[in-house]
Amino acid sequence: MTTERTFSIIKPDATRRNLTGAVTKMLEAAGLRVVASKRIHMTQEQAEGFYAVHKERPFFGELVSFMISGPVVVQVLEGENAMARNREVMGATNPANAEPGTIRKELAESIEANTVHGSDSLENAATEIAYFFKPEEIVG
Ligand code: UDP
Repeated sequence: MTTERTFSIIKPDATRRNLTGAVTKMLEAAGLRVVASKRIHMTQEQAEGFYAVHKERPFFGELVSFMISGPVVVQVLEGENAMARNREVMGATNPANAEPGTIRKELAESIEANTVHGSDSLENAATEIAYFFKPEEIVG
């Protein structure tokens, strides 16, 4: 087992409904430790850059609009197998398909407004962490 770091975003649908604590509680209960956290309001450029991999997908424009519709909380999560563990507690992209007990099943509004982002590989985690955090902002 290896201690890893992964990247998480509590999305605008969750900050709007005051669920920052509820989401963090579920992450912590899953064995993840929040080692960096900040509340930001992304610019359009920041959101477009973050989701550049989805640029050609039909939902790209709406996704960017949603992600800048309100504040988000960007976080670095640390723990054993943190990347996979976070993906597990998040649940499927579409909350209708997510397992009971997962964040998206319990809290998400729709396939777009699905409450959390989580890196889907360790390589992406490193890139995404560096996109939002300086090394000295992460305190393990
Ligand atoms: N998304 C969307 N419509 C779709 C698929 C995805 O609006 O049909 C949004 C949703 O917010 C999702 C994000 O785009 O979380 C990134 O999609 P991805 O397939 O990477 O899903 P994730 O890794 O977040 O589960």
